[in-house]
Amino acid sequence: MILKSPEKTPHLSHLEILQSRSHELEPERILAYGKELAGFLGESSLPYFIDLATLPSHQDLYGLRLPYNGHFFQMDSLLLFRTFLLILEAKHLKGKLYFNEANQLIQLKDSEEESIYDHPLIQAELQKQQLTSLLNQLGYPPIPIYTLVAFTHRKAHLSFHHEDMLPLQRLPFRLTELSKMFRDPILSIDQLRGLGKKLLSLHQDRKYDFITDFRSIRNGVFCPNCKPVLMKWYYGKWICRKCQFRDHQAHISALKDFYYLFGNMINNKQAKWFLQLDSVYTTSRMLNQLELPSTGGYKFRRYDLSPLIQKK
Ligand SMILES: [Zn+2]
Repeated sequence: MILKSPEKTPHLSHLEILQSRSHELEPERILAYGKELAGFLGESSLPYFIDLATLPSHQDLYGLRLPYNGHFFQMDSLLLFRTFLLILEAKHLKGKLYFNEANQLIQLKDSEEESIYDHPLIQAELQKQQLTSLLNQLGYPPIPIYTLVAFTHRKAHLSFHHEDMLPLQRLPFRLTELSKMFRDPILSIDQLRGLGKKLLSLHQDRKYDFITDFRSIRNGVFCPNCKPVLMKWYYGKWICRKCQFRDHQAHISALKDFYYLFGNMINNKQAKWFLQLDSVYTTSRMLNQLELPSTGGYKFRRYDLSPLIQKK
C-alpha cells in the first residue's frame, strides 16, 4: 500500500515554473531543475517494479523528508514491512556508470565531461543511521533496516555488478529475496500502520526562497496548447492569441504558478498584473469566484491561493 505517492515537491514545481516564466534564467536554476526532476522521475518509476515482486504486506512512502537533530534527511523511498524496513534509493542517471578507487560513482555521458557522485549505498547507509536513531527516539523496538539502490534510467550502462546496486528490471527479484531473508515479525500489523502514519506526520517539504523581484518574471496566462503564448481575457473567457483556444478557467493554472513563485497570498493589484487584466473589477470578480479564504477589508483584501493547490 502506498502511504505517500511519488509526487512533484513544491520546490520542483517552483523550479519548473521558473523555466518558462523567468526573463533570465540563471544556469544554477537550470541545473537544480534537472537534478530535482531526475529525482522525481527516478522515484516515480519505482512503484511499478515494486508491484511486480511477490511481497508480504508493506507500507510505502516516497520522498519522505524527516527532521532529525536539527536538520533533515530525505529518502527516495522507504518500504515498511513487519520484519524489516527498506531504504530504496533511485538513481536516475544515464550513460556509463562506474566506481573509481575512492569509491565515488562516476557518470560518463556522450561527449561530456564526467560527473562525480557520492557512493549511493554509503548515502543510503547515512540515512539508515539517522532513521535508526529517530525510531529509537520515538520508542520503536530495534528493527533491521536494509539499503538498496536502483538505477532507474533506461539508458544507464552499469559497468559493475553488485546485488544491492542494480538496474530497475532486477528490482522485483531482489525484493522477493530480501523479504525471504527477514522472516521474524518485529512489528504487529497495528504497529506497522502506526509507524507509517507517524513517519508521514513528521514529513516536511523543503522550503525554498520565493521570488521577490516581480520584474524578473514573465506574467500572463499561458495557453495550455502553445505555452508560453499568452491568452487574452475577452468577454468572459480566455482566448489564445495564436490558436484561438478558448477557456473559462485558464487563470487558475496561472494563479498556481503565482503560488509557487511568490507564495500563497495575492492581492488584487498583483493578480491584475499577473493575469494581465485591464480592470480591478474584473480581477476582483475573478478572485471572488474562486471562493478563496481572504483577509483584510475590501481595498486591502488578500487571498490565500492554497486551496487551488490542494484540489489538484
Ligand atoms: Zn494556443
